Amino acid sequence: MGQPVTHHIRSRLDTERRHFWIGGAWQPPACGPGGPHTVVADPTGREAVGRVPQGTPEDVSAAVAAARAAFPAWAAAEAGTRRELLAAVARGILDREAEFAAVISAEMGAPVDNALHVQTRLAAEVFQSYADLLADHAWEQRIGTSQIVQEPVGVVAAITPWNYPLYLIAAKVAAALAAGCTVVLKPSCDAPLNAFLLAGIFAEVCPALGVPGGVFNLVTGSGAVVGAALSSHSDVDAVSFTGSTGAGRSVAASAAGTVKRVGLELGGKSARVILVDEPDGTTVQDLEGAVRMALSDAFYNSGQTCTACSRVLVPDAVYDRAVALAAEEAGRWELGDPAVAGDHLGPVATPRQYAGVLAHIEQGVAEGARLVIGGKAPPDRTPTGLGAGHWILPTVFADVTNDMVIAREEIFGPVVCFLRYRDEQEAVRIANDSIYGLAGAVWCTDRLRAERFARQIRAGLVTVNSGQFNVLAPTGGYKQSGIGRELGTAGLHEFTETKTIQW
Ligand code: NAD
Repeated sequence: MGQPVTHHIRSRLDTERRHFWIGGAWQPPACGPGGPHTVVADPTGREAVGRVPQGTPEDVSAAVAAARAAFPAWAAAEAGTRRELLAAVARGILDREAEFAAVISAEMGAPVDNALHVQTRLAAEVFQSYADLLADHAWEQRIGTSQIVQEPVGVVAAITPWNYPLYLIAAKVAAALAAGCTVVLKPSCDAPLNAFLLAGIFAEVCPALGVPGGVFNLVTGSGAVVGAALSSHSDVDAVSFTGSTGAGRSVAASAAGTVKRVGLELGGKSARVILVDEPDGTTVQDLEGAVRMALSDAFYNSGQTCTACSRVLVPDAVYDRAVALAAEEAGRWELGDPAVAGDHLGPVATPRQYAGVLAHIEQGVAEGARLVIGGKAPPDRTPTGLGAGHWILPTVFADVTNDMVIAREEIFGPVVCFLRYRDEQEAVRIANDSIYGLAGAVWCTDRLRAERFARQIRAGLVTVNSGQFNVLAPTGGYKQSGIGRELGTAGLHEFTETKTIQW
């Protein structure tokens, strides 16, 4: 366990950022260090957390030029050198884990245990996983008269969201660096401060290892300006984007002009299916466990997890009991100050998100779903002194049908919809009846049946019962949930070109 993060640590954080990290140096923005900036708001309604510069296309060009200049040396670096850098970044994150957790918790509202264990340590694990993977990665193979060679794709633009900010940065940056690419990162304007801490680690480890500083560059600013300038830049070879499906479409459109490689990790509306036990088809062994698991998945990180199963499909025979259990279980979840350790729920991260989640809850009621528990938090359920924050109670909707907006659109808040089904065929149909295909889950004591069912779900990641997350296994979306995969060897290949040398 790391140190509990307190307001005291938080108040010591360096959150006033006026420079970008470009070419191995902290550089003022093109329009000067006192130029336009974005204020990073506090989701709990306290005073602002910090500020970061708003970049321009000139800043993007400077960062891309630095990445381009560093590319030949980094592409030629031995696997051992790449491994050293990745392992050093992993260690650097762990050495400063309390600081990372405090920053992430402050800027996007995740309770500090989540910010430490999942957001921070998982990011370090991803960097380390690529260091390990390079130990015996086969970059070449022989096919008949041909030598097949994997080479780095070039300069990579990484554009990331706020919900697991550091981990999602790590998934791109570690894989790209492992492949021999150089990177320009544009993190979310809503949670950019952790990226500056990461740049601080590169500032320490690159000179120490003799690695060119331009392997990693950081520019902040809006998606419309900095994100668009990166995706359309003629000297960026690949853009790797994680975020909403709408913004992903814009990124792909602006990348099309230069036919660059595009990786998209987008939204989801995933289904968890609880299967009845055979042969009588009227019971579910450990229904309590199934419902508890469904809610902890749907509410974790205040429901702001792209792979969360926000639709829970329950067989008719146990539907009413499952909903009653869900109401009971959801009522046990507390909202709480993210800066305090514990397993409570934090606020929703941004005002835009807050308004969107509340609008979806209203929409659900208007279209005839039954609001079993939850909604906007009343003053007596919000943490003391933080009433101005974005507080939403863990919310359960029942009697939801799959044509309702709340079953079709990604809500990205602590809202879960319970739908009923008659038989497994119908469950498969409902689960797959979505424009998305990011994830899914199956609950069944019979592992073979569960696996058979999992194979029918059109999604990139399907969890059986309480299946564990694995940083070496690929994740990514079918359908409008994305293009490409992250993590492990599949994630590495997103950043390589394949060359055939014929003899
Ligand atoms: P968002 O799409 O608003 O922003 C993501 C990033 O894209 C930010 O850095 C933003 O500034 C930038 N951006 C926005 N418009 C852009 C444009 N036109 N051109 C270039 N860049 C642009 O998403 P968000 O609100 O930050 O994150 C939540 C979304 O991310 C949800 O939809 C969630 O499902 C998705 N997500 C997906 C995954 C995954 O692995 N599939 C993981 C986490 C989050």
